[in-house]
Amino acid sequence: MLMGLKILWDHDAPDGIQLPVARTITRILGMPVEISENHVRFSSGYDNARKQYDAQTVLNRLQTFKMRYQIGDPLLLVMNDDLYTSGWDFVFGLARDTTGAAVVSSLRLDSRYYGRDRCDEELVERISKEGAHELGHLKGLSHCTDPECVMFQPRTLDELDRKKTILCISCRRKMTDLAE
Ligand SMILES: [Zn+2]
Ligand SMILES: [Zn+2]
Repeated sequence: MLMGLKILWDHDAPDGIQLPVARTITRILGMPVEISENHVRFSSGYDNARKQYDAQTVLNRLQTFKMRYQIGDPLLLVMNDDLYTSGWDFVFGLARDTTGAAVVSSLRLDSRYYGRDRCDEELVERISKEGAHELGHLKGLSHCTDPECVMFQPRTLDELDRKKTILCISCRRKMTDLAE
């Protein structure tokens, strides 16, 4: 059976762009992507002072969900809440390859966060790059030094925008080797 990738789309994440995101991630990673509505609820992990979720707590919850429903495929949650992890003011996303779970926040990828109008094309690109990056980790890829490769770790939105919606040749090769 062909291994697929699963994406859960939270109700607060920007609606109407799920299919283009799934298509773009499929094209970047060369794997089928199944997208569905998120029903996982988070009762802990929200920091009231920071107004952010602890991404590690979110990943713990996703791990429990995967075990309960025996989901073996890599699982990515797209949510709109802001995320942080210890030592960082915020993170665009986080992956835990030992459990095959990852999370991406759309909040800081959305131009509305910076006081501009929503731009679907930009949103699809950014969420796809971030999503493919975290799913790439779940497939065994590590960070890449090529600033245009999806596996490059962006520190800023500009660095994320500089990336292309592709894996560099070296990461693509690694992906093929890992799949064999
Ligand atoms: Zn990374
Ligand atoms: Zn690369």
